[in-house]
Amino acid sequence: LGLDSATVRQRMVERLRADGARCEPALQAMASVSRHLFVDTALATQAYEDTSLPIGLGQTISKPSVVARMIEWLYLGEGARQRGHLGRVMEIGTGCGYQAAVLAQLSSHVLSIERLKPLHELAARHLRAQHVPRTQLFYGDGMLGYAPRAPYDSIIAAAGGDDIPQAWLDQLAVGGRLVAPATAADGQGQVLVVVDRFPDGLRRTLGEVVQFVPLKSGIK
Ligand code: SAH
Repeated sequence: LGLDSATVRQRMVERLRADGARCEPALQAMASVSRHLFVDTALATQAYEDTSLPIGLGQTISKPSVVARMIEWLYLGEGARQRGHLGRVMEIGTGCGYQAAVLAQLSSHVLSIERLKPLHELAARHLRAQHVPRTQLFYGDGMLGYAPRAPYDSIIAAAGGDDIPQAWLDQLAVGGRLVAPATAADGQGQVLVVVDRFPDGLRRTLGEVVQFVPLKSGIK
């Protein structure tokens, strides 16, 4: 079977389900996005394994199980449950654009920010070639978020810093949820941080231990 076959993606999704992935909207979106078209052709045969892969400049495309899990956290938020989708999404760390393409199936609009110009341009080519709808890419420092389009119902980061940047919290809508990796309390490794905004303020929850590339400031 060729990599273009939907069967290959369906098998990936069945393995993710068998390993505990529970977010059906995320899994269905992942069944529809050709991950092999987002990586170098030399790596294409590994594209449907549950592994992160290099995308250049020391960065990686996240493991499918991690993409499914991050999106699951967003779906478990009160707002997404009521809406039935992720609403207006801001993604920090476009990378090759794979996760943005998955998010596009689940949102009313996706705005994704990347600080490395060659990756921003690579992702733009991928999204155009695959006719990904409702998605806008920005080249810039995602630590600042993107205030002109705020607030966002869902904020998702694919890179982790020491803490959650204040700009992201400021740009989170009431009823919205943010999920991002950040340095663990003991300074060792990273954990997922989930933040919900309620009418009377923010609530922070900690998720599982994770391993993402570092969140860096400035552009290159
Ligand atoms: N979602 C991506 C994963 C890319 S890895 C995908 O599906 O391919 C994380 C990305 O975050 C890297 O490309 C890195 O350059 C980017 N990044 C790190 N710090 C950033 C910042 N401050 N603003 C925007 N992007 C950032």
